[in-house]
Amino acid sequence: MKTSSPSTYREAAVAGIDSAQLQKSLQGLQNRFGKGAMELWAGMADQEMRDRVKESRMKTFEHLDIVLAELAKNVRARGGQVHFAVTAQDAVNYTLAVAKKNEVKRVVKGKSMTSMEVDIDPALEQEGIEVVETDLGEYIIQLAGDRPSHIIAPCIHLNRNQIGRLFTDKLGIDFTEDPPTLTMAARKALREKLLTADMGLTGCNLACAETGMISLVSNEGNIRMATTMPRVVVALMGMERVVATMAEHRETLQLLTRGAALQKLSTYVSFLGGPASKDDPDGPREFHLVIIDNGRSRILADPEFREVLACIRCGACLNICPVYGKIGGHAYNSPYCGPIGAVVTPLLDGINKHADLCKGETLCGACKDICPVKNDLPRMLSALRHKLAYGSDRWNTRQHNPAEARAFRVWRLLVTRPFLYRTLIGLGRIVQRPFIGKEGTIRKMAGIAAGWTAGRDLPPVARRTFHQLWKEKYAGNRPTAPTIETPEEK
Ligand code: SF4
Repeated sequence: MKTSSPSTYREAAVAGIDSAQLQKSLQGLQNRFGKGAMELWAGMADQEMRDRVKESRMKTFEHLDIVLAELAKNVRARGGQVHFAVTAQDAVNYTLAVAKKNEVKRVVKGKSMTSMEVDIDPALEQEGIEVVETDLGEYIIQLAGDRPSHIIAPCIHLNRNQIGRLFTDKLGIDFTEDPPTLTMAARKALREKLLTADMGLTGCNLACAETGMISLVSNEGNIRMATTMPRVVVALMGMERVVATMAEHRETLQLLTRGAALQKLSTYVSFLGGPASKDDPDGPREFHLVIIDNGRSRILADPEFREVLACIRCGACLNICPVYGKIGGHAYNSPYCGPIGAVVTPLLDGINKHADLCKGETLCGACKDICPVKNDLPRMLSALRHKLAYGSDRWNTRQHNPAEARAFRVWRLLVTRPFLYRTLIGLGRIVQRPFIGKEGTIRKMAGIAAGWTAGRDLPPVARRTFHQLWKEKYAGNRPTAPTIETPEEK
């Protein structure tokens, strides 16, 4: 997976919080799509659909080998070729071999986070093959030499003015901030690329085993062109994207477009399942489906994390997460950002390597509420933290911070021995005195405690503790719980 230094999380998060423009964009996004999705779920006539889809996803995982074999069989029956890639490198090598065999000079891409996961662009470019993104947002990101910051809205961190300046610089048009004019400029530039591309490289929203077809949703129409005009099409799919039947596909797709963009159906849904037949005027001569494992089998084998594979990559959890809403997508340093990224990136790329991601979310539960398939991301984040706290052979995870673990052991020792605890609180009152400022707070602590006062003041240990106040007030008699009158009793 393409990630740079994991230590960038904190710096990138601070930079995101400091950017007034990013804050405005994220607030707009969350106000519209976060709130909108919650309202949509609440108002949906079929309240059982989310549970049904989740159940069907989990059921598929119980027989994933059989379902994938069925998919492969049906794609091959349609004349397509199927390759199972165990690793990211395997997927890259296969795609590169297809490109070389077909003397590909230009690749047009669309809808593929998986291609970012396996980091295919540099390998193609090294062979002198031009790679062009065709989703508008991804195209803007590519022109800017930037990275996506949202699963569905990759350039949410850029505003119209920046995009206008970028287009003037890269496409040579007069500066404008007018979205339709900018879109037309991109369309004109992309059309020429699409008309002359040799290979289309896509992702896969869903693959249906029963029909042997994959589906791709888009709102721009680029996918249709990228998958019908080039001679060769390669689709990269994570092995969990499969559904068993068309009936399951229908409901899963309904949740995907609702969660992603509050749409009952996206503008385009493209189905691909093989090369053009001899009677088809359009379509590729070759169709390849690359089914990628790249660490998913390990997730599948662990009941604690298997649920994360049910994700349909709608991006809704980003649209409500209070952490993503402040730090933005770049801080996650992965194609998968937001709460889903905080779970799936460590699982695919190393828990220790991405410890900051596991610890960065608040566990507020909003992501679970908004998720179309009710993925319990907070539970999985807690499980990841447990692995960091205690280590895990299964996940090759070492204890992340032994000093922190020791500190919590000491803390447990104290809070389970009231006499010792009270004695130390009394001592703390004395020791803290030189650190208390005029405002009555501790403004700066040193050493490993420095982080506690880096962004806020710390209240000192109170003169009288809560325990003392409680004892004085109730003298050992517990208060009874207040009675709450219900409307009928009035
Ligand atoms: S975890 Fe749920 S809300 Fe987040 S991207 Fe996946 S399906 Fe969407």
